[in-house]
Amino acid sequence: MAESKAVLDIAHGVPPVSVSQTSTRVNKTGSWKYIRPLYRDRVAPCNQGCPVGIDIEGYMNLLREGRVDEARDLVLRENPLPATTGRVCYHPCESSCNRASFDQPVAIHAVERMLGDLALGKSAAPALAKRAETVGVIGSGPAGLACAYHLARLGYGVTVYEAEREPGGVLRWGIPEYRLPKAILASEVGRIRDLGVTFRTSTHVGRDVTLAELGLHDAVFAATGVHKSRELGIPGETLTGVWRGLDLLRAVNAGERPQLGKRVVVVGGGNTAMDCARTALRLGAEVTVLYRRSRAEMPANHEEVEAALHEGARFSFLTLPIEVTGDPREVDVDPLRAIEDTFGQFDRSSEEPRVSAVLCARMELGEPDASGRRAPRRIEHGEFRIVCDTVVTALGEEAETDYLPTELHGGAIRVTALGETSRTALFAGGDLLEEPHTVAFALGSGKRAAIGIDHYLRMKAGEAGAEVELGELKLGPEGNLSMTRWRADDPVARVNPVNEVVKVTDLNLSQFGHARRAEDVLRPAWETRHDFLEANLGLPREDAMAEARRCFNCAVCNGCEVCLIFCPDVSISRRDDGKFDIAYDYCKGCGLCAAECPRGAITMTREGL
Ligand SMILES: Cc1cc2nc3c(=O)[nH]c(=O)nc-3n(C[C@H](O)[C@H](O)[C@H](O)COP(=O)(O)OP(=O)(O)OC[C@H]3O[C@@H](n4cnc5c(N)ncnc54)[C@H](O)[C@@H]3O)c2cc1C
Ligand code: SF4
Ligand code: SF4
Repeated sequence: MAESKAVLDIAHGVPPVSVSQTSTRVNKTGSWKYIRPLYRDRVAPCNQGCPVGIDIEGYMNLLREGRVDEARDLVLRENPLPATTGRVCYHPCESSCNRASFDQPVAIHAVERMLGDLALGKSAAPALAKRAETVGVIGSGPAGLACAYHLARLGYGVTVYEAEREPGGVLRWGIPEYRLPKAILASEVGRIRDLGVTFRTSTHVGRDVTLAELGLHDAVFAATGVHKSRELGIPGETLTGVWRGLDLLRAVNAGERPQLGKRVVVVGGGNTAMDCARTALRLGAEVTVLYRRSRAEMPANHEEVEAALHEGARFSFLTLPIEVTGDPREVDVDPLRAIEDTFGQFDRSSEEPRVSAVLCARMELGEPDASGRRAPRRIEHGEFRIVCDTVVTALGEEAETDYLPTELHGGAIRVTALGETSRTALFAGGDLLEEPHTVAFALGSGKRAAIGIDHYLRMKAGEAGAEVELGELKLGPEGNLSMTRWRADDPVARVNPVNEVVKVTDLNLSQFGHARRAEDVLRPAWETRHDFLEANLGLPREDAMAEARRCFNCAVCNGCEVCLIFCPDVSISRRDDGKFDIAYDYCKGCGLCAAECPRGAITMTREGL
């Protein structure tokens, strides 16, 4: 025991207290404890929520420390297209962000976009060693590009077979220029090319080359997406002036500027419909979107609907088209204007009838159907007509998989957790699967298949260490796979990592101050609706860096020293590598460090376990 003496300050009426006259080092209070603190890095919810499996917390922390190049390289480990996803991903990561319960979620997509733009023109780390095996990838959408990228970085020779004349899939031919400039996409595809990936464009598998011929490769990844537009199934659908949405977007992305006339009706409530509506506005038309349910049931991304509304698209909800009519004499709504406008735009003297109106039925919502949404039903005598020059249909797309073995035809393809189909060495991903049809899910599935193919080929070659423990590769119990974990070369030195997700209740929010989320800079709608230049300009760099500083860095110790300051036993010390040591001889297990840690990086564990 340390020597002590009782001191009585009679003058101030203070009772006697014990004062230590020597170092407390002799007080090995550590023997009192039954629980001990342990630094244990867990998984941030945003990391689990990102279908691409990006180490978001990791790059936010690097940015906070000003290590911008390392942050950029950390993103490129998992995501080959960050400048693209930063623009078009619907950012489910932000819905999982712990900061949402505090004030507003971190604008992760905008920080990713900044890093993606900084990476443009920069190469990704190539493979350390080349492998003898080669892989064929069918389709160069995000799924195919991701698979090719990761396999090339693992040392495989990769050839991508693409039916179109340029790679990119929907990113190139579907999503309009004003949302994703094609120069940005081309630059990101260039980075994949620089890794040695060969692109055989204008090569349709099934027509120009057969799947059997792709047997020259040791494995094949099929990612041909969904491109067959669903039909309206109503009279008049084949009239001149009826466009399939994907055809319209494709034409405009190829540089054409089709004449659509003054009034365009877009049918559908999904993202393709929103892109068609906004494209038609830019081609100079007045646009009305018909959707058979109400706004609440629209599958389109909320931000896309808002943008279409701001740019001037009108919406007619609870409206079902029942016939497209092609005779201008039938038009009974505002006939003078309709005839004047339509005759002014198009030559209607030809034999071929052209769209002049859409006959619609008014709908109401009934009970929920199999999709969980309230089913629309027709209201009796609720028919009406909308005068128009062009109808664009955007009712969803289906896959064309004739080139695949027959057992894989008909509906979504089922694959294993590593992307393999029922055929050995044939993997599949992207929109061919039942997963959500988004760019992020496609990228994630391409990476998963790359891991699956690497695993399959290394097991086939009888290599040691090729076994896979799926749970260890997942970012959190429900997250996508981590390429960094598969490669076992994590540059972020994690301490006792566990695959548990940190919840907001695990954080000490009193350590954080409130700060407003920076919102993307949007060009005004009155301007954007007249051109195809990028409408959303993202965040200025300093705002993106400030967003990175808003991040709580959930789950991982970032050396903030709160634990060190709060420890009453002075048992915590900082090492030269920035991590902390706990002197367990003196820590008496009070748990203050764990309670005060802002980010839930310390866990109290039972002594002796
Ligand atoms: C108009 C539109 C806008 C969208 N906007 C967004 C968005 O903003 N954000 C988002 O997250 N998601 C969006 N999506 C969904 C997203 O684009 C898709 O989920 C994603 O592109 C699917 O990727 P994929 O690689 O599976 O297929 P795709 O991108 O469809 O690529 C498949 C590729 O395979 C090629 N191909 C097809 N058949 C063959 C064959 N037999 N031989 C050789 N090549 C072939 C095609 O030409 C194509 O290049 C949008 C979809 C559409 C249609
Ligand atoms: S890819 Fe999408 S979900 Fe993943 S971090 Fe980027 S914005 Fe978020
Ligand atoms: S605060 Fe940061 S680490 Fe935590 S969930 Fe949000 S983005 Fe991820």
